[in-house]
Amino acid sequence: MSGVLVIFSGPSGVGKTTITRAVIDRVADTQLSVSATTRPQRAKEVEGVDYFFVSRERFAEMEASGEMLETARVFDNFYGTPAEWVREQMDAGKVVVLEIDVQGAILVKQRMPDAFGIFILPPSEEALLQRLRDRKREPEDVIQRRFAEAKTEIAAARASGAYDLFITNDDLDRAIAEAVDAVETRRVGSA
Ligand code: 5GP
Repeated sequence: MSGVLVIFSGPSGVGKTTITRAVIDRVADTQLSVSATTRPQRAKEVEGVDYFFVSRERFAEMEASGEMLETARVFDNFYGTPAEWVREQMDAGKVVVLEIDVQGAILVKQRMPDAFGIFILPPSEEALLQRLRDRKREPEDVIQRRFAEAKTEIAAARASGAYDLFITNDDLDRAIAEAVDAVETRRVGSA
C-alpha cells in the first residue's frame, strides 16, 4: 500500500466536518471514506455520500464477514468503515480520510500503525457548549448529553495514544491551514 490513511476525530460541535471537508478539497488525491451506519438518515443526508445506511442485521453481517476495517458503537448506533474501498484507494496511492470516533481510531492504529491521527479540540469547554447550542439541532437534554460525551471523548483521545496531532479550533481558517499542512507534509513524507 502506498497511500496515506488519515483519521479525523473530535467531539460533535467542534467543527470537525468542516475541517475534514476543507482538507479533502485542498489536498490533491484525497478521498473521504463513506462509513456504514445503523443510525437513521437525517433530512439532508444522501445515501452513499454521507453514509451507507444499513439495517442492524446487514451491519452485523458485514462485521462477521470481515468487511469492516473497524466498527464502533456511538450514541446507541453502530458505525463502521468498509475495508475494501480503503484498501483499493490506498493501493492507488490516494490519501484516504476517515472521520471516525476514538474507539475506531484506536482499532485502525492497531491494524495500520502508519495511519496519521488528528484530533480536533474546542478552544474551551464553554465554547463547545455554546457551539452545540448555536447549532439549534437538538433539545437541551440532548445537548447536555453530547457535551458530557464530548468531555469524556477528549479525555479518552488524550489517553489513547492514537493521535499524532491535536488541533485546537480557535479560529477556523487557522485550524484548516494547520490540518492541510500536516496532511500535505505526511503525504510528501510517505511518497
Ligand atoms: P454522526 O451520527 O453525528 O454522523 O456521527 C457520530 C460519531 O460517529 C462521530 O464522532 C463520527 O465521527 C463517528 N463515526 C462516523 N462514522 C464512523 C465509522 O465508520 N467508525 C467509527 N468508529 N466512528 C464513526
